[in-house]
Amino acid sequence: MPTAQDILKQYFGYDSFRPGQDKLVQSILSGRDTLGIMPTGAGKSICYQVPALLLPGLTLVISPLISLMKDQVGALNEAGVPAACVNSAMSAESMRDVLGYAAQGGYKLLYVAPERLTAPAFLSFAQRVPVSMVTVDEAHCISQWGQDFRPSYLKILDFLAALPARPLVSAFTATATEAVRDDIVRALGLRDPFALTTGFDRPNLYFAVERPPSKPNALLRLLATRTGKSGIVYCATRKTVDDVCDMLLAKGLPATRYHAGLSAEERQRNQEDFLYDVKPIMVATNAFGMGIDKSNVSFVIHYNMPKNMESYYQEAGRAGRDGEPADCILLYSGQDVHTAEFLIGHSHEAGDSSVDPETRQALIERDRDRLRQMTFYATTDECLRRYILRYFGEQAPVSCGHCGNCDTVFEQVDATVDAQKILSCVYRMAERGLHFGRGMAAAVLVGSQSEQIKKFRLDTLSTYGIMRGTSMARVRQLTDALIERGCLKADPDRYNALFLTASGNALMRGRDTFVLRLPREKKPETKATHRRAVLLEADVDESLFERLRTLRAALAQKAHVPPYVIFSNATLADMAARQPITEFELLTVRGVGEAKARRYGDAFLDAIKDYLRDKP
Ligand code: ADP
Ligand code: ZN
Repeated sequence: MPTAQDILKQYFGYDSFRPGQDKLVQSILSGRDTLGIMPTGAGKSICYQVPALLLPGLTLVISPLISLMKDQVGALNEAGVPAACVNSAMSAESMRDVLGYAAQGGYKLLYVAPERLTAPAFLSFAQRVPVSMVTVDEAHCISQWGQDFRPSYLKILDFLAALPARPLVSAFTATATEAVRDDIVRALGLRDPFALTTGFDRPNLYFAVERPPSKPNALLRLLATRTGKSGIVYCATRKTVDDVCDMLLAKGLPATRYHAGLSAEERQRNQEDFLYDVKPIMVATNAFGMGIDKSNVSFVIHYNMPKNMESYYQEAGRAGRDGEPADCILLYSGQDVHTAEFLIGHSHEAGDSSVDPETRQALIERDRDRLRQMTFYATTDECLRRYILRYFGEQAPVSCGHCGNCDTVFEQVDATVDAQKILSCVYRMAERGLHFGRGMAAAVLVGSQSEQIKKFRLDTLSTYGIMRGTSMARVRQLTDALIERGCLKADPDRYNALFLTASGNALMRGRDTFVLRLPREKKPETKATHRRAVLLEADVDESLFERLRTLRAALAQKAHVPPYVIFSNATLADMAARQPITEFELLTVRGVGEAKARRYGDAFLDAIKDYLRDKP
């Protein structure tokens, strides 16, 4: 009888489990209900796929999205694992075929959407076959407190109850909060579960926050140093997605888009273009990503700040799943806070009869609080990794040495005088009964000559032009800082018009000082490429690596799978370093399992042999 370790090596080509994976696998194999909480990219799937290959019967994997299932099943089949899925997109006939083959023991894993579970045909199938385990992927979908609540997940409990014998249940999620965790245990009826939260740190991810004067320019600058790399640009709204994607296309960049406003066909097509590296840049709303386990995503740029840290870390975590260095960059502006606030109000509209008013109010409060934590992340000058880990309940050193803030030199700036000018400007406008947002205030302060200024006769204010010579961006940055500090209030119900608060009044009258830490000028963007060179093993032969990549692309095209499904970049790098010429040596390469060695081994070994022969 093979061990879990053997299975890991034979099918997935890995020598060892990552921290936490082995404990979860052992718990499952001991027959205990198991709950695994791991950050995106930490390797949840292995935790149930390896036991599924060792358990006597079938493992049913409940998974929320069809695209997710198809990807996972495709990757499993490539690795030689007998797996299939059933979903609503299939014809009745192929569904019957799959279930028939599964009933004969043809598969070890069967992926199924939660809606399917209680369909009579599926239920009677499940009652007939020996089910060893039911695994619930993205288990936080069962929690009303989570962001991705799916009512169909509530059917799982009924389904389990309808089986002749209750199988072992395992559940996995990346959402760490206690409320969600408790919900999962309760709603799935887990029995004395072994629960493990693995470290949330993702050492290969580099985190940074920028507050650029122009987001489009900042984005173009970031993309210019990442030519040929694959990445995701997340935007808050559909319209922003369209605008940003159009801008990138106009600049000749290989971008595509994804949001809920597109037709199903277009979404599907664009997603595939991205997965297959035809269009390596994906511009999307948060509708994109769940179930996308493209491993070679080398950057995730947030064009807008998401509404909480859970969303941010989940989305950013889609970078660097292959373990390669990857960058997670947030482009922050004060406006993002207002947009997020608006979206929060919107997502808890009165009229949703399933929620009573008290609960609704509690949900809104909770969301506002999470937004505050997110805003702190965007504006803090402490180590970003430490901030993230602390948010998820982990200890971390004061400085990680590998994030934007650990790299940035901050300086203390006494901005009391500028602050007083801004506050006076708001005060003078209010005297005339006028309340504008921060853009107009900045325009008055720098002495802009726009139509609006003339129309409201703002050029006759005593504060008109008193900050001439300071950039608009700088004035806005200071205004944001004043809002954060509570000296000004932006009223979301009045188009974020600015109001002076009591503490703002005190500062304006010189009863307080305004000192803040601002980043000194940023160093130029060469770090990512530099780091990559350092982190790649020292003796990787780059030209061999390129050859192997070309070969992989050709094989991928022939097999109609994305390149990373064949081998990840990390595997190719290891191959280029070890330069195996026999199948036995090939199997020592990280990420090469037996099925893939059989299917693709000869092609890669030949390429390596050719290369070594051609080499002087
Ligand atoms: P998650 O579902 O937690 O987001 P995945 O299961 O998609 O993460 O795994 C992320 C990546 O890590 C995949 O490319 C996977 O092959 C790789 N991986 C998982 N476990 C290991 C391991 N023990 N050693 C090396 N790579 C691993
Ligand atoms: Zn840091």
